[in-house]
Amino acid sequence: MKIAVLPGDGIGPEIVAEALKVLEVLRGEGVAIETETAPIGGAGYDTARQPLPPATLALAQKADAILLGAVGGPQYDALPRALRPEQGILGIRKALGLFANLRPAFLYPELADSSSLKPEIVAGLDLLIVRELTGDIYFGQPRGRRVNAGGETEGFDTMLYSEREIARIARVGFEAAMKRSRRLCSVDKANVLDTSILWREVVTGMAADYPEVALTHMYVDNAAMQLVRNPKQFDVIVTGNLFGDILSDEASMLVGSIGMLPSASLDAANKGLYEPIHGSAPDIAGQRKANPLATILSLAMMFRHTFERADVAGRVEQAVRKVLRQGLRTGDIAASGQAGVSTNAMGDAVVAALQH
Ligand code: NAD
Repeated sequence: MKIAVLPGDGIGPEIVAEALKVLEVLRGEGVAIETETAPIGGAGYDTARQPLPPATLALAQKADAILLGAVGGPQYDALPRALRPEQGILGIRKALGLFANLRPAFLYPELADSSSLKPEIVAGLDLLIVRELTGDIYFGQPRGRRVNAGGETEGFDTMLYSEREIARIARVGFEAAMKRSRRLCSVDKANVLDTSILWREVVTGMAADYPEVALTHMYVDNAAMQLVRNPKQFDVIVTGNLFGDILSDEASMLVGSIGMLPSASLDAANKGLYEPIHGSAPDIAGQRKANPLATILSLAMMFRHTFERADVAGRVEQAVRKVLRQGLRTGDIAASGQAGVSTNAMGDAVVAALQH
């Protein structure tokens, strides 16, 4: 199992260091893991004047899976768009064809009070958002600016999905639903957008391949409302890049801190890039305050989806549950007024829980 490790910027190196401790324990138990580290994002720019240095991309291409911390920081904000840190991640997604973004939103009972919603609305919440990642209005051409007939400048983008792109992400959604409670909700805006009308037709057409999955459709504005009204009605949500971007951030707040949530971005062969959903948190970087659990849980997802080692994934997730039950909290999930344990103390506790 070759893992490319890309710590990135800000808290990235701190949280990745804790995930590497977990990998070290697994390696000690005989799990055949090799790791190699490379710079990305601002760190890529600092070392090679590019957010995605060619050597980093080559490492990612030859690895079986990629573990990423986070990228970005105020010192890079003034760079031209092509050199900005996030181009490193966008570049890897594009180059490796990582079209399927899986974002689970799972509420640990111990953290029910961290949610912005009432505990009874979120208790037991366990949903998965499957977001398409390489198409839609973020990549559709043409895009840009033009001067209209009235001499006014306009900005424009193109929302665009092909049948093939819709079918391959829908299949990921159906397959995920088969492994869970067999309920799939496809989210679109078919009352307004032609792209969404095609989306709905393609998804509906595939339902016959999955007779055991109960397929429903929902408009994105209603889905945004239902997620905060009654989030437990959902099992798996499948949606496009733009709607998924917004809904998955909304869902992350249902379960408390973004410091808890992992993600996977997969290609057609389940090779994947695994990363916490949060950013590089420059406000707390270098202070040993960051929560490493989202990164450690991303590692668990890697074992489940790419390495097909659900046993290892389950053990890592159980170790995380154990430290939460023990009462360990970093600042982001601590009760208000409490300082919380350090990044390393949290990582060490997960390692100890894994070993006993
Ligand atoms: P952010 O997710 O970095 O931080 C938002 C807030 O959450 C901050 O207060 C931060 O301290 C806190 N936070 C985030 N992760 C945490 C953790 N693990 N433990 C404890 N607290 C945590 O979002 P932002 O502030 O909007 O962006 C900061 C930088 O990160 C920007 O440069 C942005 O472009 C970048 N970013 C990168 C990614 C990525 O690498 N995938 C994603 C989002 C933002």
